Amino acid sequence: MAIEVVGTTAVLRARVAAARARGARVGLVPTMGYLHAGHQALVRRARAECDLVVVSIFVNPTQFGPSEDLASYPRDLEGDLVRCEAAGADLVFAPTVEEMYPDGAGGQRTWLDVEGPLTGGLCGRERPGHFRGVATVVAKLFLKVLPDVAYFGEKDFQQLAVIRRMVRDLDFPVRIEGVPTVREADGLAMSSRNAYLSPQARAVADCLWRGIEAGRAAWQAGERSTAALTVAILEPIACAAPLARTQYVELVEPSSLEPLEGTLADNAAVQVVLAVFVDGTRLIDNARLDAVPGAG
Ligand code: AMP
Repeated sequence: MAIEVVGTTAVLRARVAAARARGARVGLVPTMGYLHAGHQALVRRARAECDLVVVSIFVNPTQFGPSEDLASYPRDLEGDLVRCEAAGADLVFAPTVEEMYPDGAGGQRTWLDVEGPLTGGLCGRERPGHFRGVATVVAKLFLKVLPDVAYFGEKDFQQLAVIRRMVRDLDFPVRIEGVPTVREADGLAMSSRNAYLSPQARAVADCLWRGIEAGRAAWQAGERSTAALTVAILEPIACAAPLARTQYVELVEPSSLEPLEGTLADNAAVQVVLAVFVDGTRLIDNARLDAVPGAG
């Protein structure tokens, strides 16, 4: 296999430095592995725009809460390498926990915290410490790879906003590119966690997308009340109960993620963000409500 897998920061830095000495533009795609076509879209975009494409595969323990799925998170390094190569990656950085956290994840004493409404609501509210873990590991990866560009999926909409803010606040010399969400035929956003779904759960897991489409249809029909739009979005999810259970559905301003309430202006930019447990598996999705139906 032509693709190279490196496990240590020292070798990673040597490879990136050699490429940079040749004038290469370096792209980084951070992932937790168990790759699917969504991840591959990020890699393909990096391939199109960069000379050296680095994919990191690391299930980051510090972004999981104590009762979350760190131990059971799906892993398949061999399959991931095939998918990375097919999408055009040059180098896979697959470190151990000890390589990323020499004193162990519990021994980390320096954290990167993005404060304020960007992390105070939505997944930040439901998963305390999650974005601290994400920002810290992404900062570590940036400092190891020193990429020119880093690629993140719009599927994790709040994460993308947090990373953009971190880069702006700390002047990381990295351009952040967001990549549209890749979906299954029925609209379900691709996710490594979809592997947890039983056939029965999978059959109703498109309720998040159907909720988004119902919200878009209501918007198109002229509905501007956030309460009524939210009711429309919740309806297909309620139909999938008791297998589906909503954690949150919110309408937010797309850049600040500030909640939108009351009656919206016709030209309002509206992002719907939602988290739903489907048979115990927590799925998230989001889309512009005021966009053309079927897009994003
Ligand atoms: P993860 O492995 O889940 O941490 O995801 C790694 C990167 O892939 C993140 O930037 C995600 O937002 C992105 N990603 C995950 N699923 C999708 C998808 N369905 N479409 C586009 N990007 C995705």
